[in-house]
Amino acid sequence: MRENNCIFCKIANGEISSRTLYEDDKFRVILDLGPATKGHALILPKDHYSDLFELPEECAGDVMKLARKMVLKMKEKLGCEGFNLVQNNGDLAGQTVFHFHMHLIPRYRADGQKIGWKPQEVSGEELEEIKNQIVD
Ligand code: 5GP
Ligand code: ZN
Repeated sequence: MRENNCIFCKIANGEISSRTLYEDDKFRVILDLGPATKGHALILPKDHYSDLFELPEECAGDVMKLARKMVLKMKEKLGCEGFNLVQNNGDLAGQTVFHFHMHLIPRYRADGQKIGWKPQEVSGEELEEIKNQIVD
């Protein structure tokens, strides 16, 4: 299941070369060309899904298992002290390549990166309302 003109379809399936850290029949893990830190990697499914909204449940489970396997290996090999797993869905959320991918970002002491958000004020009533909106 590939999409024409999708760069990550081409990379994941080996049509365009990449610095590959891991490959199996379903996934390729590559180094990001614009890394946040040393070793910043991307998990790409070989099949095309635009984002998490399209990703089948089984594949979502496999992504997390592979993320775990990769961070354990990379922590040992790179000597990083932490990891951020980032996964953007939709341009509003910062997604720029519309083929599902998960970022594995190694974190080092004083690496100068900051991945986060500005916490907003929220009342108990608002939290209750939001909870009721989501829960059936
Ligand atoms: P997004 O913003 O969609 O979550 O992340 C896209 C990521 O893909 C960025 O971190 C960007 O550096 C990386 N990227 C974009 N094009 C290429 C490419 O051709 N090769 C590789 N290895 N990474 C890419
Ligand atoms: Zn694709």
